[in-house]
Amino acid sequence: MKRTARSSEPRKSEPSAAKPASRPMRSLPQRTCVACRTARSKRELVRVVRSPTGELSVDLRGKAPGRGAYLDPDAGCLERGLAEGVLARALEIDIDGMTADRLRGELATAAKERRPSA
Ligand SMILES: [Zn+2]
Repeated sequence: MKRTARSSEPRKSEPSAAKPASRPMRSLPQRTCVACRTARSKRELVRVVRSPTGELSVDLRGKAPGRGAYLDPDAGCLERGLAEGVLARALEIDIDGMTADRLRGELATAAKERRPSA
């Protein structure tokens, strides 16, 4: 019994209507990690955002309103950013110990989600 090659399997093409047309396209947006000053594409970094109410959090989708700063999804960069005060400066807010702890947790979660599961 002979099988013919699967004919015309429909290729799943990228959804064309997914992007809002409001924003002008830029080629590969780059951001700089505030701690180590390495420029990377935006998707490789995590955004820490200070919400309009003054709450800091890791913004997993990169779209939360507020003032943001980018960090590598790396505990070392977070610690450095906290220790050197660059994160606080970038976000124009004092970061207390509790907030720092929460950011550590959120960044760890973000780093895990970002990494392709091996
Ligand atoms: Zn970094």
